[in-house]
Amino acid sequence: MTRPAYRLVCPLCEEWYEDDGLLLACSEPHADALLKTAYPARRETAGAGGLFRYRDWLPVRRVLPDAGAPAVLPAGELGRRLGLAGLWISFSGYWPEAGAGLATGTFKELEAHTVLGRLPDEPPVLVVASAGNTAAAFAAACSRYRVRCVLVVPAAALPRLRFAGPLDDCVRLIALDGGRYRDAIALAGALGSLPGYQAEGGVRNVARRDGLGTVLLAAYEAMGGMPGWYFQAVGSGAGALGVHEAALRLAEHEDAGPPPKIVMCQNLPYAPIHQRWTGHPASGSDGDLIAPELANANPPYATAGGVADCLAATGGDVLAVGNDDAARAVRLFEEVFGIDIEPSAGVALAALQQAAEAGRVPAGARILLNITGGGRARFAREHVVTPANPAVRLVVPRNRAFPSTEDVLRAIAMTERGDERVVTG
Ligand SMILES: [Zn+2]
Repeated sequence: MTRPAYRLVCPLCEEWYEDDGLLLACSEPHADALLKTAYPARRETAGAGGLFRYRDWLPVRRVLPDAGAPAVLPAGELGRRLGLAGLWISFSGYWPEAGAGLATGTFKELEAHTVLGRLPDEPPVLVVASAGNTAAAFAAACSRYRVRCVLVVPAAALPRLRFAGPLDDCVRLIALDGGRYRDAIALAGALGSLPGYQAEGGVRNVARRDGLGTVLLAAYEAMGGMPGWYFQAVGSGAGALGVHEAALRLAEHEDAGPPPKIVMCQNLPYAPIHQRWTGHPASGSDGDLIAPELANANPPYATAGGVADCLAATGGDVLAVGNDDAARAVRLFEEVFGIDIEPSAGVALAALQQAAEAGRVPAGARILLNITGGGRARFAREHVVTPANPAVRLVVPRNRAFPSTEDVLRAIAMTERGDERVVTG
């Protein structure tokens, strides 16, 4: 195997690592930190299409030829309605006229393809927790490239998992009846520590963040320079951190100017990052959100190289909007552009709208708004879609902690066997 041209570095102790394709954390005994990639300065964008156009700055050992890429376009009429003449949009989803071809409808496809490109040959079974979008992206990509994976989702997310064709048997889905995103995270964490299995790692996986960083690389090309501001809805913050890291790389290697101010947007009434940033107490539950994938209770907030560091370094901010405002923003986008967007993207648009009205962003600022998902309804209208069948359904008990050791062992036994219903609790 050829040695990759990049290395991993710990932002706290500055220890360097050769990448084995799986490493998620520094092994030194110190406070929590996110490993970063360090690439050679030279970057060429010719050659591979889609996301892998940026492969020189992706932590990958292989190129997946069918990967899509974000589309970047001036906001035009939407910018006029918001009074923001310098507004640009990055759109990740299915919108053929705009050049966006991500069939599962969200920027999670950028993450999934980069994570698969990073894996070693003969990888362990990848375990991924998801509120729906990440599972859709990994299911499609793992199925296409025959990578074994176990995906854990709340049963409420199952309608979200519809595909243009049946999934390969290498994709195993566990649905949690009565479970939420946090239960999926807990079970996936336990499964990922079993021999032969590997937690995908979420925000701790450098491939996720750098895959999402291509949003900034694509915008830098399309806009002819660095945006001054960047707005995105966040759960763990992986996308915003990836964009920030890509901006630092451009600034360092290509004299691109200062990185954008990062504005992270969350969905009230459950907004853990907003709560920690502003000190406002929480007032609602993660079951009350129009965009439940933003309900990550343990984002890497105080982690070295994480959310607070990024906000402080860029002079950024965290904004939060309620369900009604997000739903109105979804309708506004569809009215202007004729394409549906995900509720989480509506959260980001509503937050930007409120920031503009309050004069928190200058009217002439060059702003990049990340529409992190869209076109799912359009795709379903234009294609025959097949629902995914869970290999296992687990009932999450209300009267005890989940998962117990017993839950984990039964889940993995059932996943390996497939097609049987387990009831616990
Ligand atoms: Zn370290």
